[in-house]
Amino acid sequence: MRLRTRLFLAAFGIAGISLLLAAALVAWLLERQLLDRIATDLLAEARLVADLVARNGASPTVAELDREADSLGSSLGARVTIIEPGGRVVGDTAEDGPSLAAMENHGARPEIALARAAGVGVTRRYSTTVERDLLYAAVRVDHPGVAFVRLALPLTAVDDQITSVQRGTAGGLLLALAGALVLAWVTSAAMSRRVSTIAAVAQRYAAGDLTPQIGPYGDDEIGTVARALDASVQELGRRLAELSRNRRLTDAILASMTEGVLVVDARGRVKMANDSVRRLLQIERTPVDRHYVELIRHPEVAKQIGRALEAGGSSQTEITLSTEPVRVCLASAAPYTEQDEPGVVIVLHDVSDYRRAVQIRQDFVANVSHELRTPLTAIRGAVDALTDETDAAGRQRFLDIVARHTLRMERLVTDLLRLARLDAGQEVLRLDSCAIASVFSSVAAELAPVLQTKRLRVESHVQPGAERLVVDQVKMHDVIKNLVENAAHYAPERSAIEIEAANDDVGTVVLRVSDRGPGIPDTDLARVFERFYRVEHSRARNPGGTGLGLAIVKHLVNLHDGTVEAAHRPGGGSVLTIALPKRAAFSAKAEAADKVSA
Ligand code: ADP
Repeated sequence: MRLRTRLFLAAFGIAGISLLLAAALVAWLLERQLLDRIATDLLAEARLVADLVARNGASPTVAELDREADSLGSSLGARVTIIEPGGRVVGDTAEDGPSLAAMENHGARPEIALARAAGVGVTRRYSTTVERDLLYAAVRVDHPGVAFVRLALPLTAVDDQITSVQRGTAGGLLLALAGALVLAWVTSAAMSRRVSTIAAVAQRYAAGDLTPQIGPYGDDEIGTVARALDASVQELGRRLAELSRNRRLTDAILASMTEGVLVVDARGRVKMANDSVRRLLQIERTPVDRHYVELIRHPEVAKQIGRALEAGGSSQTEITLSTEPVRVCLASAAPYTEQDEPGVVIVLHDVSDYRRAVQIRQDFVANVSHELRTPLTAIRGAVDALTDETDAAGRQRFLDIVARHTLRMERLVTDLLRLARLDAGQEVLRLDSCAIASVFSSVAAELAPVLQTKRLRVESHVQPGAERLVVDQVKMHDVIKNLVENAAHYAPERSAIEIEAANDDVGTVVLRVSDRGPGIPDTDLARVFERFYRVEHSRARNPGGTGLGLAIVKHLVNLHDGTVEAAHRPGGGSVLTIALPKRAAFSAKAEAADKVSA
């Protein structure tokens, strides 16, 4: 049953029952009042009649009394009965002559008995004489011949009056019921409309739409309840929004962290794993709600989680992950409590790069020391020998050794300083359009003495489309010079060194330096660009080499966003290839400015 129907039935039911009760009460009261008034009036009239009768002479005849009864009866519109002290009826409006004489003794009539005892008597009963319901009022008469006067009123008139009162009440009741019906309908409609509005808002909230919906709730208790619930929902909505904002923020922080974060609950189930931890621990499946033992293949990590879950407390260990390449992580475990259940948060900090950097620095220092020690030892030996040497030619020989090793040291220090500058980003790229052929020829001219010693030819080829390059000319000169110098060291006498510039369709320009020397062994091809790395047999061929030339080349090429690699030359020898991105000449200056500001 709908709320509106229920409200209507309840309101109308209450109103109907109340109205019915009220109408019945009113009808009953009116009837009582009417009867009381009629009885009072009848009694008053009876007293009046008694007074009039008492004024008669001492012994009036029956005929006189009967006449008086008739005339009083007709003027009062009631039956008047005059009764002797013995109870015989001596006058009656309804009876005359013989029938009056034949009338029963009335001394025992209830109203007469009451009047005898109390002076007045009022009763309502059926009259056998007139055969209808009558209201009787009897009073005592202060007269020697007459004892009582009785007035009787037929109740039909009273009943008519009561019926009209009842009809009036019923009419009023029907009107009131109709009014109650309309009122109940209107009230229940208004009430159910308000409740429906509140229900609609509640449904919208339940569906997740928490936008404020302040409706016409009204000022009564329902309105107060609705507003209170509305305010609670809004507060709840605000908290939910704040929670989800915090959640998104936490997710964003965790996702952007380079450290791996893993959360495991007391039962060992993974509650959260960010991208970094999944990458570090190579977790491919969805980790949430799985047991960590199932997911983590690295025994050291699993062991640390197990320990942290058992013992609680914080711990930090260095863990080596047997991945490819091997990674070293600092794993910190810290306890956390969620709903009184302890769990563990593991944070993996990848320190591989740091460790590698430390290692590189240590190796570098060791290499520098070693590289400096060799010429220093040679110089010291030569200086010692020089002091004892008396022969001019011998002294010159030692002086030559000192000069050569000093030069080597100087070259080493120069290369080291250049690498340091490149590492610190102090070398600025000054890009400009330049003719590559002029770079090749200036390198050849600069190295002419070295080349001539071994009678080496430099053959340069510039393919169409590669004539002009947007590069830092000075740095590119150093790169080519370094490669040609290396080639000159390793190329056999009277051979050719080829320098080539080729245009590549995929947006790169390729520069190649090839020689017909011994080439670089396969295992060393990738490593010759490392600092101080030298192929074992090369030391004899190029004793003055520092092992830093190709490292500087790589740095300078990378500065141009290019790559460099070493390979075998078909037919013997080595070929070093530089690939540079093609740059438009017009943007060169702007780009150079960008690089400087970066
Ligand atoms: P270095 O000063 O010793 O030449 P580089 O860094 O220039 O140092 O070269 C590193 C190593 O690479 C050299 O020691 C040499 O073994 C090898 N290498 C470089 N260029 C050539 C080449 N053209 N032919 C053979 N080996 C080469």
